[in-house]
Amino acid sequence: MFETLSDRLTSVFSSLRGKGRLSEEDINATAREIRLALLEADVALPVVREFISRIKERARGEEVSKALNPAQQVIKIVNEELVQILGGETRQIRFGKTPPTVIMLAGLQGAGKTTLAGKLAKWLSDDRNTPLLVAADLQRPNAVTQLQVVGERAGTPVFAPEPGNGVGNPVEVARESIEHARRNNHNVVIIDTAGRLGVDTEMMQQAADIRDAVNPDEILFVVDAMIGQDAVNTAQAFLDGVGYDAVALTKLDGDARGGAALSIRHLTGRPIMFASTGEKLEDFDLFHPDRMASRILD
Ligand code: GDP
Repeated sequence: MFETLSDRLTSVFSSLRGKGRLSEEDINATAREIRLALLEADVALPVVREFISRIKERARGEEVSKALNPAQQVIKIVNEELVQILGGETRQIRFGKTPPTVIMLAGLQGAGKTTLAGKLAKWLSDDRNTPLLVAADLQRPNAVTQLQVVGERAGTPVFAPEPGNGVGNPVEVARESIEHARRNNHNVVIIDTAGRLGVDTEMMQQAADIRDAVNPDEILFVVDAMIGQDAVNTAQAFLDGVGYDAVALTKLDGDARGGAALSIRHLTGRPIMFASTGEKLEDFDLFHPDRMASRILD
């Protein structure tokens, strides 16, 4: 991801090398090139506009630095603005005052929720937590089994409806899981919810009902970074329908253009908390805006 954007930006900056001082014309031309590179990477238009206007304003107002040449100054500004657009600080999990801390995952089918649930469970266990995975996706016949497989790999128990008890009610399962976690000393509960291929009201309502039943400390919206502009629309639909505290971006290892990753924070006002970069449990970490910006500008 971001390879094309990275290459484009590198060539924009290289055209500034050797310049003694940036003229208004240089700044405008550079801004135009950066704008095109961002649009080509599928970054949403309002985000591009804001970004470019800040770059221009800062490039014009920049003190002439003795330490940096004009190209380096522009790179520095773009880097800082990229960090800002990606959210600035790294967002940590907010643990509740009394255990268990409840983390609910929401998102479309195929976004990577179940995989992320396992990754999150392992990541938390590695940090001396005792998570419990909860199968509240009772829509797809395979979803519970899939979570059990993931739980086994992560070494995390899974709370699911008893087999033979019918399909079960996801709201009840979620509610009961909190009690189960309390009794069994799980300090974090990770609830996997049902998704559909597209946004639909019934799915939103179910997620909202689970939310109301368990009052999560964190609702994470899980979204596939490969789906481009659609990611932004889906993010907005879930914000309106369920609401969430932070975003987990999946499939950042893909070769999509990465615009979703760059747009979502700015458009939803919600921080990106986690980045998933592969199918393995280890391909997962907190999202660090500064590291991501450096990767783009590498
Ligand atoms: P869910 O329907 O939201 O629960 O999505 P799943 O967790 O079942 O994931 C859907 C597919 O995406 C599976 O084939 C996963 O292996 C794959 N997947 C999940 N996260 C990633 C990721 O970060 N990178 C890649 N390449 N594939 C992923």
